[in-house]
Amino acid sequence: MNMADSDEMMLHLAARGCIGARDMEEADIVLLNTCTVREHAEHRAVSFLGRLAKWKSAKKGRVIIFAGCAAQRLGRGLRRRFPQTDIIAGAKDIDGFGGILDKSGLFGAAAGGGAGAAGAGITGLVNITRGCSCRCSYCIVPYVRGEAYSINPDDILAAASRKIAAGAKEIMLLGQTVNGYNYKGKNFCSLLRDIASLKGLLRLRFMSPHPVFIDEEFIKTAVAEPKISRHVHLPAQSGSDKVLADMKRGYDRRAFLRKTEMLRGAGIAVSTDIIAGYPTETEEDFCQTLSLVDEAAFTAAYCFKFSPRALTPAAALAPLDDKIVEKRLDILLNKVKTASAAAYAAQPGTKQAVLFETPTNGRTSTNFWVRTSKKYAAGELAEVEIKEAEDTILLA
Ligand code: SAH
Ligand code: SF4
Repeated sequence: MNMADSDEMMLHLAARGCIGARDMEEADIVLLNTCTVREHAEHRAVSFLGRLAKWKSAKKGRVIIFAGCAAQRLGRGLRRRFPQTDIIAGAKDIDGFGGILDKSGLFGAAAGGGAGAAGAGITGLVNITRGCSCRCSYCIVPYVRGEAYSINPDDILAAASRKIAAGAKEIMLLGQTVNGYNYKGKNFCSLLRDIASLKGLLRLRFMSPHPVFIDEEFIKTAVAEPKISRHVHLPAQSGSDKVLADMKRGYDRRAFLRKTEMLRGAGIAVSTDIIAGYPTETEEDFCQTLSLVDEAAFTAAYCFKFSPRALTPAAALAPLDDKIVEKRLDILLNKVKTASAAAYAAQPGTKQAVLFETPTNGRTSTNFWVRTSKKYAAGELAEVEIKEAEDTILLA
């Protein structure tokens, strides 16, 4: 999502005559787009901003823009701490970023287009919802990105068409609960069908869907449309009913597993996100998460240590001992590694369509990375025979 927001902000800069620099030494402007979902991400962003003071003073006229979720959370206080910051644009300001640039007086008038706007790459990122209204107890996103809203489908189709015209072969639709999309009654599946019909598009992906919105209609839509990726990244967060209820996720273990079965039954691979060490997680709850990894047969999982975030209800709970959380994370990572290796090991002998991102590397529709000995064109969709599996790459 931040990459998509960065692209959008780059377009506003390009419209004002800016072009991409090769490195920071050559650059006159640094735009730092930030995440605050976990404390660690925010720390890294803020310490990078601190280090930029030296870069800025080394050449006259250099400009620093601090943008995104950490900028939204830390707000104006940042300018006092880091007077080198010229522009602060929070995550809620992305739509109005052009206006913010104009107000700063540091840029010329917008002229449209611009050299930096060209070249979408193989994957075109397109936001379809903004914000989130779910209020999971641990999550800061609703506070820094605001309430959920769906973007007008005409604008989405226009954005996707522009990316395809600029060379994108796949479109990745983005939103925090992307499959909860609803614009005046137009739902996610209907939007998927519209975008899949765009000429020149080879594959359609999306992130992050919420388990509660995975239903029969989605399965039918995906099965009927080969361009829709046979992969869904479906964050579970926990395998314990009690922790899921405490997290206010809106589903229990059984419901989650039912959704993963529906997906796998339709040939759709499932990966996930898991949080280890939520404050109310007992050893027994954690074991439930481990067994969920076994049962759901995830092809991949991103695992995070619980991080207390300001404003969220979970931040008010007494945290678990850090040593216990570290240990659980370690065990979980090992479990996930084994599950993912098993998923990779099941692929040799199959023939799969690979969308190449470089001449020898691409992804299957089920989102496995593949390296080939034969060379293909970047952006080509080709059927290859999988010969071997390494840890997280298939060889063909
Ligand atoms: N909208 C998506 C997730 C967005 S945040 C969803 O609901 O599934 C991306 C991931 O960060 C989450 O899936 C969660 O696993 C992790 N995350 C969010 N808040 C966190 C916190 N306070 N501590 C640790 N991990 C967190
Ligand atoms: Fe955060 Fe995702 Fe829950 Fe929204 S649905 S509050 S973004 S974890």
